[in-house]
Amino acid sequence: MSFADLGLIPELQRAVSETGYTEPTPIQQQAIPVVLSGLDMMGAAQTGTGKTAGFTLPLIQRLARHASTSTSPARHPVRALVLAPTRELAVQVHESVETYGKYVPLRSICIYGGVDMRGQIEALRRGVEIVVATPGRLLDHVQQKTIQLGQVEILVLDEADRMLDMGFIPDIRRILDLLPAQRQSLLFSATFSEEIKKLADRMLKNPTLVEV
Ligand code: AMP
Repeated sequence: MSFADLGLIPELQRAVSETGYTEPTPIQQQAIPVVLSGLDMMGAAQTGTGKTAGFTLPLIQRLARHASTSTSPARHPVRALVLAPTRELAVQVHESVETYGKYVPLRSICIYGGVDMRGQIEALRRGVEIVVATPGRLLDHVQQKTIQLGQVEILVLDEADRMLDMGFIPDIRRILDLLPAQRQSLLFSATFSEEIKKLADRMLKNPTLVEV
């Protein structure tokens, strides 16, 4: 099994091989075709399994179908939103997006609290397709109207169980209310408590379960 067998476009295959990966991990083998097909997915996977590439690669590929090379900010609406519980994780996911997406003309940004908002606002104003964010700071931007989420096509909730532990579920629910009902949604969690299942019910439509 190779990354080409999974249906990844050459731009992504090239970035992956430059990273040094020779074959997809089990979660990547299962998740990549599901995400490419546009289905919602619930992923039961721990960190260290390769789950980040498992969702960032197909996410980039889906957006690449309609990537714009225009310099007009209006041509670069936020099309994918990845939510992570901590700044560290958000930065790590964003680095993956940048690494795997380097041959695809998409713009991305990492948004987290504890730093000045101005740099983030400036980048948002220029237009970005992929936003990786922690929930609180994302809502700050929503409140200040410095981000529009009405054109999001793909939502990823990473480490949902940690989101729950950190008290982010009310924020997540508020963010869900701002997104188009018609979208693709992915939820990753290492464990599935009743609370996570409730969130999954609200967020996902007929999800495919991927477990490793
Ligand atoms: P993650 O579970 O997404 O945090 O990834 C864990 C580690 O596995 C990261 O350091 C990745 O760079 C690495 N990794 C992801 N996919 C592969 C792969 N197909 N082959 C080898 N290493 C990988």
